Amino acid sequence: MDRSGIELNGVAYRWPARPVVVVVIDGGDPAYFERGVRDGIVPNVARFMKTGFAAVADGDVPSFTCPNNMSIATGSPQSVHGISGNFYLDRDTGEAVVMTGPELIRSRTIMAEFSRHGATVASVTAKDKLRRQLGKDMDLSRGSANFSAECADECGLEETGIEDALALTGMPKPSMYSPELSLFVLEAGIRLLAERQPAILYLSLTDYIQHKYAPGEPEADRYYRNMDEKFGRLHDLGAVVALTADHGMNDKSNADGSPRVIRLQDVLDARFGTGTSTVICPITDRFVVHHGALGGFVRVYCHGSLDPADVIRLVAGLPGVESAYDRATAVRRFDLPADREGDVVVIGRPDTCIGAAEADHDLSGLKGHRLRTHGAVSEASVPFILNYPLRPEYAARAASRRLESHELFDFAINGVALP
Ligand SMILES: [Zn+2]
Repeated sequence: MDRSGIELNGVAYRWPARPVVVVVIDGGDPAYFERGVRDGIVPNVARFMKTGFAAVADGDVPSFTCPNNMSIATGSPQSVHGISGNFYLDRDTGEAVVMTGPELIRSRTIMAEFSRHGATVASVTAKDKLRRQLGKDMDLSRGSANFSAECADECGLEETGIEDALALTGMPKPSMYSPELSLFVLEAGIRLLAERQPAILYLSLTDYIQHKYAPGEPEADRYYRNMDEKFGRLHDLGAVVALTADHGMNDKSNADGSPRVIRLQDVLDARFGTGTSTVICPITDRFVVHHGALGGFVRVYCHGSLDPADVIRLVAGLPGVESAYDRATAVRRFDLPADREGDVVVIGRPDTCIGAAEADHDLSGLKGHRLRTHGAVSEASVPFILNYPLRPEYAARAASRRLESHELFDFAINGVALP
């Protein structure tokens, strides 16, 4: 076996001296850890922050799940791996294209690359939509595994590298809308670490709790206490533990609890006429109960003679809009794949979300909860925490500028000083 390490997207990763576990806490806004540390909810994380390394880093904009997971897992920006949301519009067909298929990702993940060099690796996700991209070209022949909690009862050894995920964790199959979905992922990670000692373990959770509960609410505290206990067990098993999030979360509701929404398709249709533009909400997926497909970032595609500059002029004046960019500016500013970007990008302020037409968003799933969601620049700050301190070279890098979450694997594999 060649143990000299790998190179991917311009970064050299050495062969890990001990297992490296990266946990992506979906919706894990830094405010949850801040509050949890203050209130004594997360003693293990508090210890990591004190004796290891902690910073708040930049995630990607749009601050959505798939782009950020792929940036972290490939160690590259969206312009390299190509996944800039759950949806974009195919200009040739006029159809909205789901961006979660493995054929659309333009890079292998760090896990996949290590597996092809003979390492045992594993990735476990809450939702199945991430699984196939994370596992693209992964070699499962040497004990590597790639499965989701969502499909924990239908793992096939050939496709996922695991015979029975329910037996592995000793837990029943969790509901899609529960904190147990994430705890299942973490428990699977602990068991895989103990049984297979993978070189790299990637664990991606779900933001069910963060969409519903603010930092300090009892349900959020319970979830963070349960997660913290599992982070402690990962540490006790000897792993380098790296914690981050795909995005943060903000309350985007009015004082009376109703969602504060700009229904952008309706606004554009009223001004420019029906059929002259298409608003795509790239947060949309099959699981929209807790946010009604409303986020802080949308793409506008102009048809016929509609000029993007006119759209920008109109949109930039709407209350609740933070910024509106033409494609070239957005691509440059957020390092996006140009061929998958709209003609105009619209980003909301922290307290406002942006939707398409009123009819496109079913908010009945909120059931009286305030709308908490993400997607904007204001939700792109994420934790960047390691359970060991940095070597001098990496400490200097961290001191010189704000880190980006896609550097986390580099820091966890190459940057920590092990005892
Ligand atoms: Zn997410």
